[in-house]
Amino acid sequence: MSQVPLERKVLSENDRIAAALREEFRRHGIFCLNLISSPGAGKTLLLEKTLESFPADERVAVLTGDIQTDNDARRLARYGFPVRQITTAGACHLDARMVERHLANWDLASLGLLLIENVGNLVCPTSYDLGEHAKVVILSVTEGDDKPLKYPGIFHRARLLILSKIDLLPYVPFDIAAARENARRINPSIEILEVSSTTGEGLDAWRAWLASQRV
Ligand code: MG
Ligand code: ZN
Repeated sequence: MSQVPLERKVLSENDRIAAALREEFRRHGIFCLNLISSPGAGKTLLLEKTLESFPADERVAVLTGDIQTDNDARRLARYGFPVRQITTAGACHLDARMVERHLANWDLASLGLLLIENVGNLVCPTSYDLGEHAKVVILSVTEGDDKPLKYPGIFHRARLLILSKIDLLPYVPFDIAAARENARRINPSIEILEVSSTTGEGLDAWRAWLASQRV
């Protein structure tokens, strides 16, 4: 048997669970984002800066995926909001079943925003719906500005592109205009923000975007 039908079966099972999650989020008024990038693009640091800026009564929670360690969850837990690690034990993406399992025993009625940090990988996380309202792709300026052309799937499906680590622009050959143009060639309606979690540049625009999506 070829692998294609099996993959299709796995994905349709995933879609079924994702649809149930989406309905669950809708019932509880939870806005959910799925953050996708290559390893090392700065997802966790962006989430740290995001949590740091929220008031203590913000109804936010984070699920963070990694193949092996719980380092990211420990970093994110310092801000006092509910955080859970999903350790995939080898799988290079999160699937809806993992999200469903890790939401068990969480009081969803007390949440308004769920941020999911996917496993660092630009390819297969794109295919697995987690019940989120939108995907956010993060591309750091230490990567290639042609990545939207090389990995069109995620750029096609993402609502927002965050160009991260822009404080490093003077030191790298990354052409930010070319990156924007490449992303828009794949997805003309993609929104684009430029952010440095280190200097704080662009974080206000990111927070404003988040707030605009939640209403
Ligand atoms: Mg991380
Ligand atoms: Zn994978």
